[in-house]
Amino acid sequence: MRKVDVVIIGAGSAGCVTARRCAELGLRTLLVERKDKESIGQKVCGDEISKSHFDATGIEYPKGEEISSVIAGADVFPPNMVNELKVRGWSDFDGWTVDRWAFGQRLLREALRAGAVLKTEVHVGGPTFKGATVNGIHYKDLHTGEKSTVQAKIVIDASGFASVIRKKIDSPYVETEIDKKDIALCYREILNLKMPFAEPEVARVFLGGEYAPNGYAWIFPKGPKSANVGVGITGGGGRGSPKSLYAKFKEEYPLLFRSKAIQSGGGAVPVRRPIWSLVADGVAFVGDAAWMVNPIHGGGIGAGMRAGIILGEVAKEAIARRNTSTKGLWHFNTRFLCNFGRRLASLEIFKRLLSDVSDDDMNFGFAKRVLEAGDLMAANRGDGFSMGIGSKLVRAKRGIGKPGLLRNLQKAASLMKKIDKAYRNYPSSPDGLEKWKKLVQAIIDSAVFTSQ
Ligand SMILES: Cc1cc2nc3c(=O)[nH]c(=O)nc-3n(C[C@H](O)[C@H](O)[C@H](O)COP(=O)(O)OP(=O)(O)OC[C@H]3O[C@@H](n4cnc5c(N)ncnc54)[C@H](O)[C@@H]3O)c2cc1C
Repeated sequence: MRKVDVVIIGAGSAGCVTARRCAELGLRTLLVERKDKESIGQKVCGDEISKSHFDATGIEYPKGEEISSVIAGADVFPPNMVNELKVRGWSDFDGWTVDRWAFGQRLLREALRAGAVLKTEVHVGGPTFKGATVNGIHYKDLHTGEKSTVQAKIVIDASGFASVIRKKIDSPYVETEIDKKDIALCYREILNLKMPFAEPEVARVFLGGEYAPNGYAWIFPKGPKSANVGVGITGGGGRGSPKSLYAKFKEEYPLLFRSKAIQSGGGAVPVRRPIWSLVADGVAFVGDAAWMVNPIHGGGIGAGMRAGIILGEVAKEAIARRNTSTKGLWHFNTRFLCNFGRRLASLEIFKRLLSDVSDDDMNFGFAKRVLEAGDLMAANRGDGFSMGIGSKLVRAKRGIGKPGLLRNLQKAASLMKKIDKAYRNYPSSPDGLEKWKKLVQAIIDSAVFTSQ
């Protein structure tokens, strides 16, 4: 396949779902991947995925060997690890922990069944161009070393965090580099536990604190006596690598005493709003390559799947209209960023609040319920949280002694509303992007929270 409609780089969850939708819609679709076919789906991950993403996309729920455990509820802990919020009925979190390999293999099978063609064990080096427009890729066969190119009407970069195309194009619309402070470096293990879970369907998330300074830690059940446990930190503040912080967590957290690791590994996650534009001339970005990840807990499988479905449809329209320029592909921006992308942007404000407020303030906020389970759920939905008069009075009463915390909450609520509105009004064409970027950047820049 030297000439195709669409070439997709990367057979991760975002790439497979995009390939499936493109092929279902009749596009000649080539999916290229560095791994061998049997290894597709293997990924260092927390393995948790919410049911809501399947409901939103129509992708079949995990079943059989794909499911490690059902997840129904989360306990969210402040830095001092007491007074946790018990979040139940959180439709955006409840779902499953999956066997990542089996789940990834299923997404691949669905793409192939729809008609996508898979080429494995090739390393894509970058894009090819006609003028400034991306018109294909060049790659190297990992066995023979032979170099080749493929021409495509649209190149889709689903190559994950490292993004093989984004850094190699010169577009005023797309960022090439991510700020270090927006990267969560993670380490995780899958553990066999000595003791069974008291609540085997409840995930635990730990915000900040000794084991995850400026980040998060998690314990996701994988079975009655098995768990996916990890730490993700941004910056780290010189307080250790994710691996060393994880080792301390494992040694000191009672549930993890004398547990045995059966898998381990590290990885990086982008924890900020998606790139300004998901498209440029001849090219589109999806999944981690476009920073489509929940900034609070680093979950990105669902966002990439949601975007993949939309991208397949936009690719079909653009090719039918013979316009695969930035303008021709722009609908991907308006369909994704005005909707799910809006949530991710709003959550970036919330993440900044959580990382700026002192551990003391956060512990206080949890202990006195100045912040409640409903706030976490609303923030995750992208609704911000209510600071209406009634709610403000209740919070003010509970927050006596910490006026700074209340002010911060109020400020975050207001900025989340503002960014939500800005994303609802994402420009309808590339001409409006510069002005819109300035508006969003100003909101982000003002999301600084001090404890005074
Ligand atoms: C430790 C950790 C825990 C996480 N926990 C969760 C969680 O619990 N829930 C959740 O939803 N998300 C979680 N995430 C995030 C989630 O794993 C990602 O958001 C998601 O897997 C991204 O999918 P993707 O398809 O965009 O990229 P990837 O899964 O990274 O797939 C990219 C694919 O591209 C291929 N590729 C890359 N470069 C090239 C190249 N040059 N040539 C050819 N092929 C190439 C790779 O081999 C890979 O198969 C976690 C991430 C980490 C690191």
